[in-house]
Amino acid sequence: MAHYCVNCGSELVHREIEGRSLEACPNDDFVLWRDPKVATAVVVESDGGIVLGRRAIEPAYGMWCLPGGFVNDDESPVEAAVRECLEEICAPVVVTGLIGVFHISKQDAASLIGLGYHAHLVDGHSPAPGSEMLEVAVFQLDALPPLAFSSHRQIVGEFIQSRVPPGAEEPLRAAAGAPRALPPSPARGRSPRPHRR
Ligand SMILES: [Zn+2]
Repeated sequence: MAHYCVNCGSELVHREIEGRSLEACPNDDFVLWRDPKVATAVVVESDGGIVLGRRAIEPAYGMWCLPGGFVNDDESPVEAAVRECLEEICAPVVVTGLIGVFHISKQDAASLIGLGYHAHLVDGHSPAPGSEMLEVAVFQLDALPPLAFSSHRQIVGEFIQSRVPPGAEEPLRAAAGAPRALPPSPARGRSPRPHRR
């Protein structure tokens, strides 16, 4: 598909720039750089677990994911993370730290730079589904549903690892030691409860 210069409207032509073949204007210095988009995903802690939403939109309709989304040009990534939580899980959050920065490579669209944050709900607030979610729920870390996106799986994985105290061997046991007791869990192959000492 042809692309056109945002300055003068000329049809772009392929040009070798910094070792890459890019579309550029033959008349001025406009280059259609293939830049990544910036998105956030937020691990919101609540009741010893994390808040997930089940998607009411494509892609991955019906699957669970972290709240998050694209960063707008006029907001910081943390502001974007807080806004997306308000929109998707209808609850104010306090962002408490960065889990990591991830590159999500895409062939059919701009690749993403994903910023994984951890946060907690503002006291007295509970999550509720926004318009892009069918439902929201709090899941314990050892009973998470399949997540829609590999980047979200990676962010949650690193979040769980980051919670392991030095010397501890089993991250999920550490997670189960969160302040509140686990709710009754459905029967599973392994007990999620901490071992008795
Ligand atoms: Zn031009």
